[in-house]
Amino acid sequence: MTDPFIVAVDGPAGSGKSSVAKAVARRLGYGYLDTGAAYRALAWHVLDRGADTDDVSAVRAAAADFALGQGLDADDRRVFVGESDVTDAIREPRVSAAVSGVARVPEVRVQVNDLFRRIVADSSYPAVVVEGRDITTVVAPDAPVRILLTAAPDVRAARRAGELAGEDSAVVAEALHRRDASDSAVVDFLTAAPGVEVVDSSDLDLDQTIDAVLAVIERRTTPPQQGAENG
Ligand code: C5P
Repeated sequence: MTDPFIVAVDGPAGSGKSSVAKAVARRLGYGYLDTGAAYRALAWHVLDRGADTDDVSAVRAAAADFALGQGLDADDRRVFVGESDVTDAIREPRVSAAVSGVARVPEVRVQVNDLFRRIVADSSYPAVVVEGRDITTVVAPDAPVRILLTAAPDVRAARRAGELAGEDSAVVAEALHRRDASDSAVVDFLTAAPGVEVVDSSDLDLDQTIDAVLAVIERRTTPPQQGAENG
């Protein structure tokens, strides 16, 4: 069995990467892996055990007993921890506020990265869009397509506030910037590593961003025309 072809997409919160990566996967018939959902599920698991994600030993203990259920179907976004369906719970602000605590523990990152590589290698998809913060640099640095999806901070905050109807937009913006600051101390997802293509979605709507990412994939996967330079 050959390993699936990987499209690696990194970006900060509110850059649109989940919606874009999912849509691209659907369009191309690829699998889709939301790595942030796994970190969120682990944060949920720590909180469910009555612990705090600032407590590194509690995070390690929860990670040692973490049965993640997550698939690659872009149309089935359910996430389980053991028997519990945590699909909606992992999007709650209390989990968003706690997730950086698990993401900054180095052994946790090694453990979940192994899990991601296994989920992708065991899949029956010919290709998988893997989305997160360190996919282009750590999880799949050799992926044939590597993209950093960015957007201006105020645009990202406004998008996230739009997704969380009913929440105060200033509070949402504050929480997003706090999470970015904490996350970027662990992995640099604001500057592109060499060879990583930047797609800035600040002035693009969702469809335009999807098209921009599809164009990068096409460019990176189409072999150059032989002899084109000769005329
Ligand atoms: O993408 P999303 O906002 O759902 O990610 C949730 C959190 O998971 C991030 O804030 C970050 O702390 C962590 N994360 C990470 N590395 C990844 C994906 C997510 O550290 N590859």
